[in-house]
Amino acid sequence: MDLHLSDAQASAAEQEAVAAVLGEHARVTGDEVREHAYFADSGQAARGRRHLLLPALHAVMKARGWISPGALNHVARVLSIPPAEVYGVATFYAMFSVEPQAPQVVHVCDDIACGPYGGEEIAARLTAELGPEGTGTDACWVRSPCLGLCERAPAVLVQRARGEDTSIAPARGGFLDVSAEEADAAFADTTVSAPQTGGAGSGLRLLARVGVVDPTSLDDYRAHGGYSALRRAVELGPTRVIKEVVDAGLTGRGGAAFPTGVKWDGVARTPERPHYLVCNADESEPGTFKDRVLMESDPFGLIEAMTITGFAAGCERGFLYLRGEYPLATRRLQGAIEAARARGYLGPDVLGAGFAFDIELRRGAGAYICGEETALLNSIEGLRGEPRNKPPFPSVRGLFGRPTVINNVETLYNVPEILRIGAPAFASIGSGRSTGTKLFCLAGIVRTPGVYEVEFGTTLRELLALAGGVTGDLRAVLLGGAAGGFVTPDQLDVPLTLEGTREIGATLGSGVVLAIDASADTAAMLRRIAAFFRDESCGQCVPCRVGTVRQEEALARLARGAPRGSRDTELALLDDLARVMQDASICGLGQTAPAAVRSALSLGLLDAPASPNGRVLR
Ligand code: SF4
Repeated sequence: MDLHLSDAQASAAEQEAVAAVLGEHARVTGDEVREHAYFADSGQAARGRRHLLLPALHAVMKARGWISPGALNHVARVLSIPPAEVYGVATFYAMFSVEPQAPQVVHVCDDIACGPYGGEEIAARLTAELGPEGTGTDACWVRSPCLGLCERAPAVLVQRARGEDTSIAPARGGFLDVSAEEADAAFADTTVSAPQTGGAGSGLRLLARVGVVDPTSLDDYRAHGGYSALRRAVELGPTRVIKEVVDAGLTGRGGAAFPTGVKWDGVARTPERPHYLVCNADESEPGTFKDRVLMESDPFGLIEAMTITGFAAGCERGFLYLRGEYPLATRRLQGAIEAARARGYLGPDVLGAGFAFDIELRRGAGAYICGEETALLNSIEGLRGEPRNKPPFPSVRGLFGRPTVINNVETLYNVPEILRIGAPAFASIGSGRSTGTKLFCLAGIVRTPGVYEVEFGTTLRELLALAGGVTGDLRAVLLGGAAGGFVTPDQLDVPLTLEGTREIGATLGSGVVLAIDASADTAAMLRRIAAFFRDESCGQCVPCRVGTVRQEEALARLARGAPRGSRDTELALLDDLARVMQDASICGLGQTAPAAVRSALSLGLLDAPASPNGRVLR
């Protein structure tokens, strides 16, 4: 029996929005999922459409600006999902609202890269213009975790009902009067750079087409070498493509550094069908924006890389799970998928080479935890984005219970490069087990914020120099994002490799390099990080759910100068909490939630008070 809490009906506009989604997706995946997936075991065909829950909720949000009880009931009915479960999913994501809200919502980044660099001023300005946070009839504003626009801090995202969402660097003007076209046009100028190579060439590999190719043109992509790697892959055949990737030594760039070719091989060898490919494009680590720049500026590169991966691992279907807060990347990737499909680069007979592969783009809806691979799978399946226990690993039992390759965006962009230059050449780049190049997101007090591509083994000092150095007295660098740790000025010669950073107790993480000077309030920064993890914890396991709250409370007491017991007692408590969270949490979020706090404490970054004129976070 299911509980129906109201008999509210959806409006005609809401019903139309849901019907449009079901029609659109049925063509691509509905029938296939119904036919193959484990849902079919239940014998209830409609349950096979649960994976359309997120797209349906997005459609309702777009139609009305919030998910009304009538719309919620309607979605539950057409997808045969209990309303309570639809409610559970709708309330899981920050970009959905089950309460009435203004049709324009301005998300103001107050996170570590934006908050101290203008984010708080924007929040104050909007409070004066629109009223307190969350209020307002025509437009309202809310605080947001990192929007992935750190190189142009401070940044906002305008979420619109019945209109296009836009990411905006407000220094360029107003918030509400900027069209999608104007906002998109202003986004063409992110700095991307690499060390010069012997006087010739830009030195860029993964970023080579950024700012060079027209991201809306398949022909221009081909004119810049696009799709030659896929042709090479077809010549080699799946087994040799996998061998190339194994021999190149490519490891995942999402944080775990698992050998990519080994992962592909495991899925390719599994007789159970179908196989799925999932691209993790849910880039949400505070301070990270490299995947966004790649996808906005070279979207066909990701489509080609996914096609090669699908070909090699025997996947006929790829899902591209993209961060909901990336409107321009959404438009560009959707355009690229449609163009590739229209020209036979996706579909039942790719390149006329006798293999099928197609891609469906799925938008996240504002949940950091969905960057964890099994949470991401649950999110695609229409469940709350809560991580699964591992094992079984996704390569054995992944999306819809089938063998699944999951790779992140940066990892995939390496694949065409490996086929272009060959495994031996790729393996000779970098250092030790860390082969190839790595993208870093430089922000904070660096002179030229942007995305930088360097060989593994480059030192942090060299990387900062590449960005023009810093504009003040460097106090520390937050390396790896909120889940990473701090590096002090006397550690700048650390080689940027997995091993090198581990030796000094740091991590490359997602490639964040956020430089701060003495004016930065590190205590406030840590409290913002602690609040972030408390907010983003899915709450499934106790060490993380409770630990992140206790950690934030202890930091707040220290900041107020009102420790429970003594300051040392609080520091010991933070240390205890860190140990428990690291040892006993189910997934990486809980395990890394205390990392930055621990690192700051061990380096004494909380000891020296921030300068009285320092930049503030709330
Ligand atoms: Fe959820 Fe945190 Fe547990 Fe991960 S560690 S499953 S985010 S509660």
